Amino acid sequence: MLDIAKIRADFPILHREIHGQPLVYLDNAATTQKPQCVIDALTHYYQDENANIHRGVHYLSMEATRLYEHAREKVKNFIHAASVEEIIFVRGTTEAINLVAQSFVRSQVTKGDEILITAMEHHANIVPWQFVCEQTGAVLKVLPIDQQGNLLVEQLAAYLTPRTKICAITHIANAIGTVNPIKAIIAECHAAGVPVLIDGAQAIAHTPVDVQALDCDFYAFSGHKLLGPTGIGVLYGKKALLAAMPPYQGGGDMIRTVSFEKTTFNVLPHKFEAGTPNIAGAIGLGVAIDYLQCIGLTAINAYEQQLLRYATASILEIPGVRLLGTAHEKASILAFVMQSAHPHDIGTILDQHGIAIRAGHHCAMPLMAFFNVPASARISVSFYNTFAEIDCAMEALSEVNKIFA
Ligand code: PMP
Repeated sequence: MLDIAKIRADFPILHREIHGQPLVYLDNAATTQKPQCVIDALTHYYQDENANIHRGVHYLSMEATRLYEHAREKVKNFIHAASVEEIIFVRGTTEAINLVAQSFVRSQVTKGDEILITAMEHHANIVPWQFVCEQTGAVLKVLPIDQQGNLLVEQLAAYLTPRTKICAITHIANAIGTVNPIKAIIAECHAAGVPVLIDGAQAIAHTPVDVQALDCDFYAFSGHKLLGPTGIGVLYGKKALLAAMPPYQGGGDMIRTVSFEKTTFNVLPHKFEAGTPNIAGAIGLGVAIDYLQCIGLTAINAYEQQLLRYATASILEIPGVRLLGTAHEKASILAFVMQSAHPHDIGTILDQHGIAIRAGHHCAMPLMAFFNVPASARISVSFYNTFAEIDCAMEALSEVNKIFA
């Protein structure tokens, strides 16, 4: 059992008022709020520890380096990677996927090769692959979903051909909450000789992740969806793959020697971290991981599932609501449209009540097209949300119906 009141006390923003009402923050799939310990870690770093890393002989530089590398160790343990060399700090999921697309995939594909994604991907797991297709003549293939938002996994075998060079798939779909059976998908891809990248942006704060048990080749996530700061994220990659990949960006820190004739590169993971990284962000992410682990992802997942069940039952009592995404296995994301109002109107009315939800295409325009809607409203809950907050949102949705009746 989670002590929600105690947990909420750790998040200063949750005590804010918006338009004179207590904030009800139900936009956690966009970004999560930050506990005081993470905010303090950032302040503390800039106040007492700030220096550039990996290059100083002075005390502060060595201290900052130690803290940054310690954060990498925390990430490694959190996702059960085999070594810190497999943990690349990046800006976020978007940069992680672009890195794999340009460094791992682009160099291997030729005209007519195939890149496999699914119909429920975020733009961050579509557009980088389209770039590679344009650059090389490769073809983007899309594994379809059914009307409930379940991936048609039984069709996977037919989509895996001798020309498939990578399968890039989301762990949890941001726009509809589907949890994909990635372990089985990875095994099937590997049996066909296809490496797999998992977009873990929506999964990392909601379910335990063990990259070695999953056997994924790459796993990408963003710190800001995990109680951490913005501008920091992680690319996990299997060491053998990362070691064989060319660097993604050139600059300081990623080199071993530079002359005008030839440059040699640093060892992993530094080969992929050109320039001064987000040092404070990495440290903050490490603290966010500590915090999350103290509470426990298994307990978090169980509580969020209760909230999801409660919210799903409640919203279906509101006339004119259509849920988008009712997959067999779902994370705490509730996407919907209403007969009475456009999603933007829903979002605006809820905002007047201090309730933050997302309205729009959720960076998944192909998925909106599949459901034949221009946009949707989305409630996404985190473990610091309460049943009372769900009630609050439901009352406001009933009012939307009254206003537009
Ligand atoms: N993939 C998924 C499934 C997401 O939900 C998001 C963020 N909405 C991203 C990728 C991109 O993450 P970021 O913007 O933090 O790079």
